[in-house]
Amino acid sequence: MKLTKIKFNINKSIYRGGEIIFLVFLIFLLISGVSFSTGKSWQDTASKTLGKNKGSIIILDMHSGKILAVVNPRIAFTESFPPGSLFKIITGCALLESQGFNPSGKITCRNYFALGTRKFTCNTPGGHGNVDFIKALAVSCSVYFYSKGQRLDGREILSIASSFGLGKKSGIDYRGESPGVLKKPGNKEQFTLMLAGEGGTCMITPLHAALMVSIIAGRGKFSFRAGKKIHEYKIKVRKKTIALLLEGMRQSVKKGTSKGASVEGLEIAGKTGTSEDERFPGETHAWFAGFAPFDKPEIAVVIFLEDGGHGFEAAGFAKKIFKFYRDKNK
Ligand SMILES: [Zn+2]
Repeated sequence: MKLTKIKFNINKSIYRGGEIIFLVFLIFLLISGVSFSTGKSWQDTASKTLGKNKGSIIILDMHSGKILAVVNPRIAFTESFPPGSLFKIITGCALLESQGFNPSGKITCRNYFALGTRKFTCNTPGGHGNVDFIKALAVSCSVYFYSKGQRLDGREILSIASSFGLGKKSGIDYRGESPGVLKKPGNKEQFTLMLAGEGGTCMITPLHAALMVSIIAGRGKFSFRAGKKIHEYKIKVRKKTIALLLEGMRQSVKKGTSKGASVEGLEIAGKTGTSEDERFPGETHAWFAGFAPFDKPEIAVVIFLEDGGHGFEAAGFAKKIFKFYRDKNK
């Protein structure tokens, strides 16, 4: 008899304990409900946006410097790819900082640039016509960067790329983070390919792309919260340089190659990239890196589609994330 009674009491107290735990859990849900669901939705939106496509998406919070969402972190942090025209942000920065460069000066793009016996082509049949710096960035005119870039030397470009965090690890708390590749081009041909982000002299992870665009969004600086540590990025360039890069990226979304990312009621800036997958001839990676709102950036977004086509297609993926941001802030 005695034994049964004890057993009954224990059961009753376990039951009461369960009740209390449940109540505490309910209160916790009520208090933390808002922030809990916000965090989850960013990740959900990013996952749904990528869907079954191979690649990665990163969303950074421009205020806290934290990663709001990352899809396929392994690809985002440990694998590096040629950046294609995303690298025009670096080449553009080097051009704008070089002595005597005039951003209003125009070239005529007839869709190819000849160097010796080799022809480097642009992305549109017939060419872009007359192109100045802002238009070159907006429509991603490689001929402009091939020809204007000949005045630069490789070291200036590498030093600017390095100040954007390329070629080194960010220090994020993730095993096997890739530093990417940043090396001196061996000859004029390799140098010309580098100007447009091809040829393997520069390889970046999607995280590098996110840092690069966040630094532009932050008007030259960004504090990246990589786990417990904060990494400060600051590029030493003139205000005018940042202003022109920003304008080129704004025009890219307004009427250039990034147009697919545009969302009504939100001002976005960005840059697309298409780069060859050297492992599979004919296959191309698609990139988009951008941010919003233009004046006071809150989020930076990177879309990377492995063997996923062209940059303008990646911009279309980013549209879904910018739409989510706009609707959340209505
Ligand atoms: Zn062109």
